[in-house]
Amino acid sequence: MADSRAADVVIVGAGLAGLAAARRLTAEGVDCVVLEARDRVGGRTLNHSIGDGKIVEVGGQWVGPTQTRVLELMRELGLESFPTYSQGEHVIEYRGELNRYTGTIPRMSKRLLADFGQAQWKLDRMARKVPAEAPWTAPKAHEWDSQTLWSWMRRNVYTQGARDALSLAVEAVWAAQPEDLSLLHVLFYISSAGGLDALWDTEGGAQDARVVGGSQLISIRMAEEIGDRVVLDAPVRRISYEPDSVTVHADELEVQARRAIVAIPPTLTCRIAYDPPMPALRDQLTQRIPQGAVIKCMAMYERPFWRERGLTGQATSIEGPVKLTFDNSPPDGSPGVLLGFLEGNQARVLGAWSPDRRRAAVIDCFSRLFGPEAQSPLDYVDKSWADEQWTRGCYGCYMPTGAWTAYGPQLREPVGPIHWAGAETATVWSGYMDGAVRSGDSAAAAVAASLVARSERFATA
Ligand SMILES: Cc1cc2nc3c(=O)[nH]c(=O)nc-3n(C[C@H](O)[C@H](O)[C@H](O)COP(=O)(O)OP(=O)(O)OC[C@H]3O[C@@H](n4cnc5c(N)ncnc54)[C@H](O)[C@@H]3O)c2cc1C
Repeated sequence: MADSRAADVVIVGAGLAGLAAARRLTAEGVDCVVLEARDRVGGRTLNHSIGDGKIVEVGGQWVGPTQTRVLELMRELGLESFPTYSQGEHVIEYRGELNRYTGTIPRMSKRLLADFGQAQWKLDRMARKVPAEAPWTAPKAHEWDSQTLWSWMRRNVYTQGARDALSLAVEAVWAAQPEDLSLLHVLFYISSAGGLDALWDTEGGAQDARVVGGSQLISIRMAEEIGDRVVLDAPVRRISYEPDSVTVHADELEVQARRAIVAIPPTLTCRIAYDPPMPALRDQLTQRIPQGAVIKCMAMYERPFWRERGLTGQATSIEGPVKLTFDNSPPDGSPGVLLGFLEGNQARVLGAWSPDRRRAAVIDCFSRLFGPEAQSPLDYVDKSWADEQWTRGCYGCYMPTGAWTAYGPQLREPVGPIHWAGAETATVWSGYMDGAVRSGDSAAAAVAASLVARSERFATA
């Protein structure tokens, strides 16, 4: 027999979204229980120890200056940030040649740069016409949702070099290929972040800074505040509901509540059984909302040797398999940590390799980009998020063609007493830690308002 508990609100998932919702509701005196499948909090943020009390993050890590909600939350929790190491020149590998450059866009021929620039300008301009809270209402929503980004690039990016560079930038943001993504989804995402520069840039953009002690601390600190209302090792399998009540069944615990907030990636929400079943449109949405594919790889060295050669540690390689690297050393620069991403197709292919073979391919790539010293790391770690039972891909989900226009409203619309949260449901910085926190705040506010409306109904009845 499963244990039974009662609460005002039951929250599924102790990632940033679920915990932010619980923290806000608890502060308002609403009794919450959070059910988390894993034996830890933080979801897609995860600190990994590299000895001497230092960590690297194998999940989400960066915060940027316009991600104001997560920055505010960090301040509330007593956490600080430090800038991503960016002193010196970056490296680009293109057609077997290595070159150094500064700024976000690699040094390429003038023709190629102009082509890339006009494509970025067009995408930014179209994105301004897409309301992030309702992309399906954009004037050209149907036209844009009927094509992939790849189809758009065939017609609007004229040189192979600019197509290669744009594909690389797209893989870096969505962990998916241009052919996977609805153009409307790309425009929605740009709109929710405030422009492509905000998504791509290190200084001043989404890769601007890191959390001292690691981003998982944001969730750990929130969970400490919420206390024993966070229940670990409690995967939710079934949710039964009526208009004004809900019972959430985890493996050894069931929680009865007035409202539920399901704060997990949308595609995982349909792996829970609902009684009664979800409305058709909601279920069909969740059949169409896949997670991206990314493997985050880090090699540890005695010192960040690339800095001595005037390099930032940031590199782009059109050849791959690692297409993007960063200096991910701790704030004091010791040990030196090189971070590389395998994204989209590279993650799909190398994810099926043995760990040793994948490690060798990543280290070879680091050596091509930064020299033979990269060949002998002290340690190496990588994490394939598609392998994770309670995530099944990253950074987040994306919409293929047709999904936003046919099913968009179902992404956030509550079903009876069940509300949805999670980075994917955010309208500002969707897919990011900031968006996750905002989505938790919004779901908490909506649930609190519906509970107040309910008590008013009972008071006047
Ligand atoms: C490699 C990588 C790099 C990233 N880089 C960045 C970055 O630099 N900056 C940035 O802002 N964002 C980044 N992200 C994205 C960011 O980490 C996420 O957007 C954010 O953490 C999502 O939080 P969430 O609470 O919405 O979802 P999650 O973190 O996925 O939380 C959901 C929680 O629900 C639990 N769960 C799932 N199913 C069930 C169930 N049935 N029952 C109970 N519990 C369940 C999960 O275990 C998890 O703890 C990155 C992500 C990855 C993986």
